[in-house]
Amino acid sequence: MLIDLRELLSGSSQDLNKTVKLEASVFDNGVVSYDITNKEEFTVVITKLGSSKISIKANTSVTLDIPCDRCLTMVSTPIDITIDEIVDFADGASEEETQLEKDYIDGYNLDADKLLFSELLVSMPGKTLCKDDCKGLCLICGNNLNIKECGCDREVLDPRMSVFKDILNEFKEV
Ligand SMILES: [Zn+2]
Ligand SMILES: [Zn+2]
Repeated sequence: MLIDLRELLSGSSQDLNKTVKLEASVFDNGVVSYDITNKEEFTVVITKLGSSKISIKANTSVTLDIPCDRCLTMVSTPIDITIDEIVDFADGASEEETQLEKDYIDGYNLDADKLLFSELLVSMPGKTLCKDDCKGLCLICGNNLNIKECGCDREVLDPRMSVFKDILNEFKEV
């Protein structure tokens, strides 16, 4: 959803409150793509700080389906998002920055989806596990080891173990 900022910038009012809802149903940053399973309406509070300077504030929560790092089972992950940004339309020095980093500003429009996504990216958990002691997938057959033990000999695939075995074998040969 686009919020037109021209009226706020040129008019006499100091605040613009807009209730928006994320339009996208998938969070896709080109590297990962996660389904958005829950999103709430939230209010974007835009305050004029000067003739061309605004502050943008909002709080919301988005729930994403993120696969477990070990077994790839989808984990419903609520992410709290706090937006607190300042955009200066006049400052020539920050124009490049505005274009590079603030891709949610398009001319004098604020793209609420892009704003939320840019913040979502930095609020994303570094690690996602379905449970702390997730056993992960078998590297040989792909079986989910949380559900059952497949009986594969996985030790041979661990390079650290094979080095260790080589050393043991050398000792045996001597
Ligand atoms: Zn897992
Ligand atoms: Zn297996």
